Amino acid sequence: MNKQNLKNNLPAWDLSDFYKDINDPQIEKDLKTYQKSATAFAFKYKGKLKNLSAKEFLDALKDTEKRAKLAARLGGFAYLNMSTQMKNAEAMAFYQNISEKLTEYAKPLVFFSLELNKLPESKINEWLQDKNVAFYKPFLDRVRKYKKYELSEAVEEVLLEKSVTSSEAWVRLYEETSSRLVYHLNGKTYNDAEISKLTLDPSAEIRHAAGAEINRVAQENAPLFTLIYNMIIKDKAIEDQKRGYKTPVSARNMAEDVPDEVVETLAQTVRANYQNLAYRFYKLKAKWLGVKKISYWDRNAPLPFCSDISYSWDESVQMVLQGYRNFSPKLHKIAQDFFTHNWIDVPPRDGKRSGAYCSGPLATMHPYLFLNFMGKQNDVLTLAHELGHGCHHQLRLQNGELNEHSRMTTEEVASVFGEMLVFQDMLKNQKDDKAKLCLLAGKVNDMINTAVRQIAFHFFETRAHAERQQGELSTERLCQIWLEEMRESLGPSVDVGADCAYIWSSVGHFFFLPFYVYAYSFADCLVNSLYQVYSEKTVKDFPDKYLTLLSQTAIGDYKQILQPFGLDVFKPDFWNKGLSLISSYIDALEELDQKLKI
Ligand SMILES: [Zn+2]
Repeated sequence: MNKQNLKNNLPAWDLSDFYKDINDPQIEKDLKTYQKSATAFAFKYKGKLKNLSAKEFLDALKDTEKRAKLAARLGGFAYLNMSTQMKNAEAMAFYQNISEKLTEYAKPLVFFSLELNKLPESKINEWLQDKNVAFYKPFLDRVRKYKKYELSEAVEEVLLEKSVTSSEAWVRLYEETSSRLVYHLNGKTYNDAEISKLTLDPSAEIRHAAGAEINRVAQENAPLFTLIYNMIIKDKAIEDQKRGYKTPVSARNMAEDVPDEVVETLAQTVRANYQNLAYRFYKLKAKWLGVKKISYWDRNAPLPFCSDISYSWDESVQMVLQGYRNFSPKLHKIAQDFFTHNWIDVPPRDGKRSGAYCSGPLATMHPYLFLNFMGKQNDVLTLAHELGHGCHHQLRLQNGELNEHSRMTTEEVASVFGEMLVFQDMLKNQKDDKAKLCLLAGKVNDMINTAVRQIAFHFFETRAHAERQQGELSTERLCQIWLEEMRESLGPSVDVGADCAYIWSSVGHFFFLPFYVYAYSFADCLVNSLYQVYSEKTVKDFPDKYLTLLSQTAIGDYKQILQPFGLDVFKPDFWNKGLSLISSYIDALEELDQKLKI
């Protein structure tokens, strides 16, 4: 397929469901409405919550909900509009301007959750007797659980106001710097997404050169990234300490409703499986690549005997939709909407951010999918993944703006499951053993990147945050911790050397969402377990029960939502069950390898 055609025919998203463009006069109007409504709300309710009847409190909640929608619409539009044009100064300034204004206008609202948390349980329970107020119970529970971690109103106000010039400013500096990085290879220049693709090149020489260049640029920028990382960790530590969180990971776990010890069990169980999973797989991979040890930059290398299949956008859409339809016609119907409307931005473009994501600023409106589609098998699975996020969002529209929130550990369930559905179809339709091996090897590669590698990342950030308590970490120290965790998780068949020492700085999550990474592994193990239950056919009406689970991920707890499947994340063997799916795939790979005598 002609690359140029591929790019030209790919659909772009249409953000006019938010606003026409950044000059839309409705933006100014909405900002004004937001500001006025916030001031009026504080005037009407501040200091008076304890005297409200259930009916009056319901009005306050509805008012809050309306404002949350406005803020999400403004902020969401500014962010999405910017993400496809990171080199456009006007789009960048617009985003910054909207963020600052929303933060500024939200200041009078700080009292609301603080005052709610000063009320006795009996008052909340009295309100909850009203069934209309009871609809908002998930929201109220979420606000109330922070009761013991909240600071005085004055401090909360300062923290909110200063976030634009502290934590958020560091993240912005990180993102802007990263997006401007330029890479040189063989006389050509590349952006971040382009050079990353070269690490998947069939030629080892190109892969290694691209990897070394990524590392060189990271090294060149290491003083700045080290400073930013130290600041982000310290900023978080100051706030954590003032609020009374026990460990650096605690605030994240609290947001996830996962006890610290569950995350620790997950991390340790995965670590105990490094050998069984990663070491075993990379040994095979080294053999297939014809070397004793593969380079760090060969981890995702294509196998020499596997053909590089390309798919057009239309073919990819068909494959993904079919996978969804085979599982559940209901899910398929929801998925289809993303293609009949322009809700997906497909092609890579100059100045567009790299990677892929699904973003739904409003919990009560459809989300948008952001891709950098290049037509590879992985891009098909990425589409299946992001579409899973999209459907997950659509299944929760009825929960309302206030009740919904993103719990990262469950946020990845629909996406990983969607990917699994499409992958299983691909595997089933493949009759040739060698092609089957190629497909399975690609999947195991990804599963190790998700379930195992993200836990190695988790150990990296856990150590960095712990050591930061003693003072700033030097670049050398960060590199050293990085190399240690990489070596331990990749095993004896991977050469982890100086050519990847600075790569910690390219893991964006360390900077903009500390302690997010374990959620990938958490979700992967959870989905693998769910998928095994589905394959065993032991649960009646699995697809419908699964869709119900998706609709409740933000409003139900783990015990409750997994109960229909007989699964319990609090049991230690739960994690091993999920990991055993990967292990069984590696068994199959070893068998195929023997059979084919590669
Ligand atoms: Zn995802």
